[in-house]
Amino acid sequence: MTKSRQYKVQQGLVKVLKLQVRPENVEDGRSIQEKMELMKILHDVEINTEKKHGLTLTNHPVPNSYLYQGDIVLNLAQAQALKDISSGRQKRKLIANLAERWQLPIQYSLDTRYTSDERQFVEQALQAWEQVTCITFKEVNYSYGISIDDPIVQFVRGEGCWSSVGRNSSTTQKVSIGSGCFMVGVIAHEIGHVIGFWHEQSRPDRDNHVIINFDNVQYGNAGNFQVQSWQNVDNKDIPYDVGSIMHYGSMAYTREGKRTIETRDPLLQHTIGQREAMSFYDIKLANLAYCQAICDPKLLKSECLHDGYQNPKDCRRCRCPDGLTGPYCEQVALSYRAKCGGVVNVSSDLKYIETPSFPGEYNAGVMCNWLLRAPVGSNIYLHLRDDFVQYQQCANTETEVCRDYIEVKYYNNLAGTGARFCCSKKPKGIIRSHGNTMLVLFRSLGNGTLGFRASVSTESCGGCAAATPPSQKSCLKRVSYSCAKTWKRKAIKQCSWWTDKCGYSM
Ligand SMILES: [Zn+2]
Repeated sequence: MTKSRQYKVQQGLVKVLKLQVRPENVEDGRSIQEKMELMKILHDVEINTEKKHGLTLTNHPVPNSYLYQGDIVLNLAQAQALKDISSGRQKRKLIANLAERWQLPIQYSLDTRYTSDERQFVEQALQAWEQVTCITFKEVNYSYGISIDDPIVQFVRGEGCWSSVGRNSSTTQKVSIGSGCFMVGVIAHEIGHVIGFWHEQSRPDRDNHVIINFDNVQYGNAGNFQVQSWQNVDNKDIPYDVGSIMHYGSMAYTREGKRTIETRDPLLQHTIGQREAMSFYDIKLANLAYCQAICDPKLLKSECLHDGYQNPKDCRRCRCPDGLTGPYCEQVALSYRAKCGGVVNVSSDLKYIETPSFPGEYNAGVMCNWLLRAPVGSNIYLHLRDDFVQYQQCANTETEVCRDYIEVKYYNNLAGTGARFCCSKKPKGIIRSHGNTMLVLFRSLGNGTLGFRASVSTESCGGCAAATPPSQKSCLKRVSYSCAKTWKRKAIKQCSWWTDKCGYSM
């Protein structure tokens, strides 16, 4: 991707997040009376949310946003359910949207006003979903009239980007891909809504993963951070994913440029808000919702590892998390366009991993995957050293969403999106695995720059195995305690599992 294109992507994202489309400009087929009714409900959601979070209610302008969370056209039942949740009452129960699914192929039409380039963006986003799921799309020429009884997704060049969540109509349902939205990732996000996805940070369990700084949210927009209830979402037991294409970025609805969404694990801050590609769990959710009847489970001879699952596009194999492969996700994925990656057996001796040609420049389109393995019972330390630059239109701000990046998966679960680091923001200190494995990915979109070099080694003062009970937290505490004891003899005061204060001098 060229730098000017990257710039456009960034501007597009800003526009998507700031979107305040006037209701009369949202051509979703509803009358102005129906729109007013919806806005009244959204206003109640706002008041309830403000009350709940102790925000000052005086002088807050009524939001003029007809679109919920910037790009969602709610139906009245969805809006009412949201109001109930925001007021602490749960009277209505929605059929979870993913249960109310489309028949495949999903028929769609494209606005005749699209230029051929714009058409291509929409088609590429549709193909992106088709390539990784059993979901298929079929273009129909709506203007020449097929039966109005067939549900159709009508892509229109409206104002901004917006969509309904799930199948909402037995006839046509509009999705606007207007100016500022012509990026494959942004359109793939809207298609995510079409197939029934809410925003990731609307999940009922989001407070375990991110903190919403309501004091930094634009007046009148707190309601956009209301969570859904479990009754109304269908998540197929998939864990929360900060790298979901459906997750808001750090600055959504910001007032005065301050962070509105803070990840509980600070290392994950630059992962949220990405619009490059669907995450492993985005794809898994779509496949579990739409494609479960496709494969005979017996075709799979062994269980999938690392949260992989039977691949509806190839029933004899598992579909694996990013960075892993093999029929059962037992191998590290091959690198692409460069000689790098592989399995690294980590010991107490320092080893190094680095971007191709380091300290020379890496190339565009490179993928490297390293699977780090240490003996059971030990943890892995990864320390980014030397100069560090993964550059792709970097503003180098606190809220940068990474495009060229190193991603470190240090949780026991290697399937979720990990911590991404980019620009010249090298993480301070040592990153420590929770178990005895770590997956490190490098992805470059743009033409190269320096990259990174990291040392890896096992923790020398004990650790805990992937399956160590009872919980990660107490386990880690115990380990840091034992670290402190070990290093005390060497006159080092502290031991922290986020930093290298364990005295691990290298
Ligand atoms: Zn959205």
